[in-house]
Amino acid sequence: MRIDVVTIFPELFELPLRTSIIGRAAEGGLVDFGIHDLREHGLGRHRSVDDYPYGGGAGMVMRPEPLFGAIEPLRNAGAHVILLDPAGERLTDALARDLALQPRLALVCGRYEGIDERVRALVDREVSIGDYVLTGGELPALVLIDTVVRLLPGAIAEASHTGDSFAAGLLEHPQYTRPEAFRKMAVPAVLLSGNHAEVDRWRRREALRRTLARRPDLLGAAPLTDADRSILEELRAVDEES
Ligand code: SAM
Repeated sequence: MRIDVVTIFPELFELPLRTSIIGRAAEGGLVDFGIHDLREHGLGRHRSVDDYPYGGGAGMVMRPEPLFGAIEPLRNAGAHVILLDPAGERLTDALARDLALQPRLALVCGRYEGIDERVRALVDREVSIGDYVLTGGELPALVLIDTVVRLLPGAIAEASHTGDSFAAGLLEHPQYTRPEAFRKMAVPAVLLSGNHAEVDRWRRREALRRTLARRPDLLGAAPLTDADRSILEELRAVDEES
């Protein structure tokens, strides 16, 4: 996969893209990054990329000419162009899995009050990382890169992301490691039993319990078996009793 980024702060990408799983994926050739400084397409002696908003108001707006100059070649090279924007569709596990199938992405990072509206004509998709506003699109772009690259075959063991929260419609079950007892808190005995079928049953039940307690909205779309439904009924009944 190839991921290009258009930004006025290329330095923000240096360390995150060289570190840990993302860095290893790049080193191993699973993904190739191109970070493009928008100022190379800036206007005039100061390489300006922004201007005052028509109609007045606070803040500056990113001008269309530099953005067109940076995005058009990427688009012509076949990239699926994504603008990071609070008004975009929400980034979810399902969207990340779709994006991981694209051979080429170009991520456009806004700054200031955002971009001139006409730039949206060059964009295939707008993505938001949540209902809050950041100072720029660089952190959202890194969030998107992180969630997409870890899904590329070979980046991590497939079993570790297929069991993650959201992948199968539920939150993940609780996890424990050594020691067996810590400050009077013990690891559930079933996890020490060596009985894999029992462990799987316990994990499924705990995933259902956690999802019901914290994200009941996920249950409507989750692929549930009859056994899952009976567990949920039991959990709800216990809840009502207490
Ligand atoms: N005035 C804009 C608005 O109200 O929608 C916010 C502009 S924000 C200060 C500057 C840039 O940060 C945006 O153009 C976008 O690229 C990025 N950004 C901010 N919050 C974001 C979010 N939740 N998701 C994705 N990108 C975001």
